[in-house]
Amino acid sequence: MIRRGVIDDLTRARPRLYLPAVRSFRIGQGFDVHPFADGRRLMLAGVEVPGARGLAGHSDADAALHAVTDALLGAIGAGDIGRHFPDSDPRHAGRASADFVRTAMGEVRARGYRVANADVTILAEAPRLAPLLDRMRAVVAELLDVPLDAANVKATRGEGLGAIGRGEGIAAQAIVLLERDDQAVGDG
Ligand SMILES: [Zn+2]
Repeated sequence: MIRRGVIDDLTRARPRLYLPAVRSFRIGQGFDVHPFADGRRLMLAGVEVPGARGLAGHSDADAALHAVTDALLGAIGAGDIGRHFPDSDPRHAGRASADFVRTAMGEVRARGYRVANADVTILAEAPRLAPLLDRMRAVVAELLDVPLDAANVKATRGEGLGAIGRGEGIAAQAIVLLERDDQAVGDG
């Protein structure tokens, strides 16, 4: 038999024993789409897709990294990629989209957050991306400073439906979870 007072003590002790800090989370999602264009190389998740038709865009038109950038900015409530890297700015012409992710990561770190995990889906009728997904995943993991198993890149086809299915362009979606250790409040 346990005295009531002991249970109260254990209950009170629990937060100190198991929750030394409060962890806060933020979630963000990004979506992007670019039409195909002649005379461009295809960049997706920081990897060049050999022999494929490229995408129109001011930068390197990497729809996957644009979606990742938007997800990061969304998670910290910092607007979107267009606000941070406007098309009208000649400094961003032909720019590697990895730079956009790095800049957004700087904003994330400045707020004390780190990436917990990220999941990216590329929507493309063609080319076939399966052989490149592991390399794309490695790029995303490195850019977001997470272990490989906390980054995922997958591809799906449009099955003939809509603009993606007709092969008019490529779209990408990304979702990221950010975490931050905060000082516990009201502890003891
Ligand atoms: Zn874009």
